[in-house]
Amino acid sequence: MKTELLGSTPEQIEKAAQILKDGGLVGIPTETVYGLAANALDGAAVAKIFEAKGRPMDNPLIVHVADFNDIESFELVSEIPGSARLLAKRFWPGPLTMIMKKGKAVPDEVSAGLDTVAIRFPSHPVAQAIIRAAQLPLAAPSANLSGSPSPTTARHVMNDLDGKIEAVLDGGECEVGLESTVITLADGVPRVLRPGGVTVEQLRETLGEVEVDDAVLNQLEEGKKAASPGMKYKHYAPKANVVLLKCSDDEYIDYVNDHGGRGVAALCCDEDLSRLKNVKVISLGKRGDYSQQAHRLFDSLRRIDGYGDVITVYSRLPHTDGVGMAVYNRLIRAAGFEVIDLE
Ligand code: AMP
Ligand code: MG
Repeated sequence: MKTELLGSTPEQIEKAAQILKDGGLVGIPTETVYGLAANALDGAAVAKIFEAKGRPMDNPLIVHVADFNDIESFELVSEIPGSARLLAKRFWPGPLTMIMKKGKAVPDEVSAGLDTVAIRFPSHPVAQAIIRAAQLPLAAPSANLSGSPSPTTARHVMNDLDGKIEAVLDGGECEVGLESTVITLADGVPRVLRPGGVTVEQLRETLGEVEVDDAVLNQLEEGKKAASPGMKYKHYAPKANVVLLKCSDDEYIDYVNDHGGRGVAALCCDEDLSRLKNVKVISLGKRGDYSQQAHRLFDSLRRIDGYGDVITVYSRLPHTDGVGMAVYNRLIRAAGFEVIDLE
């Protein structure tokens, strides 16, 4: 199959919308990462997403809408909880996904057999335009090959999926750079299953009590069922081996310099650049600026593989406050939970 790289003029968006109506797949920009979209109401179209990505069939997809009322009019959920209305008012459109009891229009392919469905209203103007042009809710996971870092440019999507999908819409670099925050409202106290651009602190301001699922910061225990199936896989990883160091800033510099050489890279902060010797360096941005680090993380992981000869990459274990929790969550999965504690 030839994959068309489209821009985001009204004609090109119309063309992509037609592909979606016909049951095809299109890579679309959102403010979080690029998504691989299909008609969420068509189980056969959605099944093609899993095939193109090599995604495990038990990992459900997020359904994207361009209006809160779409949730009801497309019968995506059986009931809208009051908490969903509160969150939508403050955070939609934006990088927050809400899980609710699923409605009768959602095929099993989308929910991976669960009785719940994940829904998001993205803020990216091109994402909204394509949803409106298709007049459909769109199921869309990240548009990468399963296991590799999520794509934050149209070029990343082409690198992973060229020849496997009908088209990619180029809408520029993704602003947030990490996938959405996922919160479940389907039972009991609202619980964050995946951290993202909307922080736990912000969610608590709106809802009061909000829990954070164990799997967000820790490795799932053997045999324990994942509330969010996506959290159980090694994920977001470059081909190089990511190792996280739990240490002070000075200890980080000393350790990496001691272990430097060919095949070693440092995923570091701007402040480290002049102090690291004899290793390849990629900075995620200013120390403590977790929004900037989130924005750059996946592109940096892909650039490490671009060097071709990096075997080990050392990074610091991030703090878990604010957007730092999302950076921590992605990095620790990229590292397969390998942390060296120097403290
Ligand atoms: P991705 O689209 O690649 O960002 O992946 C979607 C994420 O949302 C994965 O981690 C899924 O496991 C999670 N997810 C989607 N639907 C549900 C659901 N109904 N219940 C729990 N987690 C979900
Ligand atoms: Mg993904």
